[in-house]
Amino acid sequence: MPRYDYRCRACGSTFEVSRPMSEASAPAACPDGHDDTVKLLSTVAVTGSSRGGAAPPAPRGGGGGCCGGGCCG
Ligand SMILES: [Zn+2]
Repeated sequence: MPRYDYRCRACGSTFEVSRPMSEASAPAACPDGHDDTVKLLSTVAVTGSSRGGAAPPAPRGGGGGCCGGGCCG
């Protein structure tokens, strides 16, 4: 189940909530009971499933290309 980070605007604390994605946008009360919270866009840890398609961009240059070895220019 993914975990989402929330920040309470009432007391300023951040907390983590594990909930289904279908409830990701539902309001979450902070541990102190405040309802004025915002969801933070941080890393979402999904356990039990690996999803592709979000690989970091590969570094460019120096990878054996023409301009990497000083053969052009
Ligand atoms: Zn709070």
